[in-house]
Amino acid sequence: MEMWKELATCSKIVVKVGTSTLSYPNGRLNYQRLVRLADTLAKIQLTGRKIILVSSGAIAVGAGRLGLASRPADLAGKQALAAIGQAELIRIYRRFFEAREQQVAQVLLTKDIVIRPDRRENARNTLFELLNMNIIPIINENDTVATDEIEFGDNDTLSAYVAELAEADLLILLSDIDGLFSADPRKHSDAKIIPVVCEITKDLERSAAGAGSGFGTGGMATKIEAVRICRNSGIKVVIANGANPDIISNIIAGRESGTLFYCSRKINAGYTDMNIRNTDTV
Ligand code: GLU
Repeated sequence: MEMWKELATCSKIVVKVGTSTLSYPNGRLNYQRLVRLADTLAKIQLTGRKIILVSSGAIAVGAGRLGLASRPADLAGKQALAAIGQAELIRIYRRFFEAREQQVAQVLLTKDIVIRPDRRENARNTLFELLNMNIIPIINENDTVATDEIEFGDNDTLSAYVAELAEADLLILLSDIDGLFSADPRKHSDAKIIPVVCEITKDLERSAAGAGSGFGTGGMATKIEAVRICRNSGIKVVIANGANPDIISNIIAGRESGTLFYCSRKINAGYTDMNIRNTDTV
């Protein structure tokens, strides 16, 4: 499909992995998947493309370290686990990336990067400098000072703000679902993945309502919100299944691998006409 093929020209890509992608349903970290993720991203970076990784999983790793079977219900408990788990999560990433001779950096952000111009400028300068140095920034929300993503985002919206800040061409949201379906696949056996979405309609928003489960906190609703943020800057978004991180290579080779939220041109000024085609699917 032509629109998918355009992804082969993307040079700056934000990849977001959610907690459900990085861990088993019991919350334990899926090391094999992390190894494959590091492998895939390091190889892509070698081709000259720039990668930013937005990773959740701090709470899950923290829970694993303390031997907890589930995440705590209270916010402060989650924040404490995130503080415990984030250090470990980055240690693991660093080990796996360094084995592939790829340096990484930890960047903890909050939505202040949207609201406060000074923080936005600082975050932007840091990201651009890291990318110039050929380093992969690994971003998470700073869960000690903000709780947006712990409460309902699983970093979906944060990753969209990062894509916008970094002037990325593409945001890939990896999840435990294959993409956006025409109906709830758990209830309708004939539900099909929608390969391309050109317009966020009210119907689409309605069908995306509802949150995720288990250790993750995102859902289709926060992903659609991420799409909306990206559209303001002309950034394409793909929602795909992260069970096999090799899927990232397929996506950036322009091969259909989930749902592509397409917008046809980049408007960095944002918030103007977005030239969105007037059909739901193509
Ligand atoms: N920053 C949190 C984490 O990394 C966010 C996502 C979540 O709720 O799992 O764990």
